[in-house]
Amino acid sequence: MECPFCAGDGGEVVWRDPVLRVVLADEAGYPGFARVIWHAHVAEMSDLPEAAREHVMRAVFAVETAQRAVLSPHKVNVASLGNMVPHVHWHVIPRYRDDVHFPGSVWSAPQRALPEAALAPRIARLPALREAIVAELKRVAAWPA
Ligand SMILES: [Zn+2]
Repeated sequence: MECPFCAGDGGEVVWRDPVLRVVLADEAGYPGFARVIWHAHVAEMSDLPEAAREHVMRAVFAVETAQRAVLSPHKVNVASLGNMVPHVHWHVIPRYRDDVHFPGSVWSAPQRALPEAALAPRIARLPALREAIVAELKRVAAWPA
């Protein structure tokens, strides 16, 4: 069985360093939905050495910071499940009161229809989000050479 995070990037790569990448996922209704994915097969955060864990979390919070600055979401959800793939990865998800699942998680039952009219301005901010993610990661998350 092929691992999807080894077979592909898992989304549009915005940032890549020797150990992890940040991708924008193509999730319907959730422009700006990002994942921080450890390249190697490591199932649990506690399997990583401490410096590596800290690097992962710096990347996660850099993405969250960029999302807040550019998209002004009502909330950011940060989640690590990893039940499907043996890669440490964090979902970093801008949430809005009018999104399909709010106030439930994005994996819960839908609460309403896709807010098409609200999506266009969020999609329009994606180029700025990519730039902000890279800028924030360069500021805080350089992996030691
Ligand atoms: Zn894999």
